[in-house]
Amino acid sequence: MAENRTFTMLKPDAVENGNIGAILDLINASGFRIVAMKLTQMTRKDAEAFYAVHNERPFFGELVEYMTRGPIVAAVLEKDNAVEDFRTLIGATNPAEAAEGTIRKKYAASIGENAVHGSDSDENAAIEAAFHFSGREMF
Ligand code: UDP
Repeated sequence: MAENRTFTMLKPDAVENGNIGAILDLINASGFRIVAMKLTQMTRKDAEAFYAVHNERPFFGELVEYMTRGPIVAAVLEKDNAVEDFRTLIGATNPAEAAEGTIRKKYAASIGENAVHGSDSDENAAIEAAFHFSGREMF
């Protein structure tokens, strides 16, 4: 995948709370172009694989429960410097520490249920996009 792309998920809490439209508005207004998108639900196996890097952490069980409890919006976004700029737009993992105006500051409830995912490197963006989308679903 090109280095100007990142992968995001609007997590189950964002979908449950009716925040899909507001978050997508912010994403578009911040200059990101949506090049792939779908409403989908992760299985337990999916979530355990997607977050495998955290499988020794104390919050892993809760994270898998949370991420599988309802649908998510998965998307691939395009913009210059996409990975870094999107991490800035979403804000810190803990919404209590997230900057004003960030998605997590506005829409996240806690460090666990924090509304949105953003890839942390170009390499992971490519892996995560391929986890959710086939080549012909990305434009
Ligand atoms: N998480 C959690 N407790 C923590 C840290 C993380 O429940 O103490 C969850 C949270 O949903 C977070 C995800 O695990 O978004 C992945 O953690 P990471 O440190 O990769 O944060 P992110 O890259 O999402 O900001």
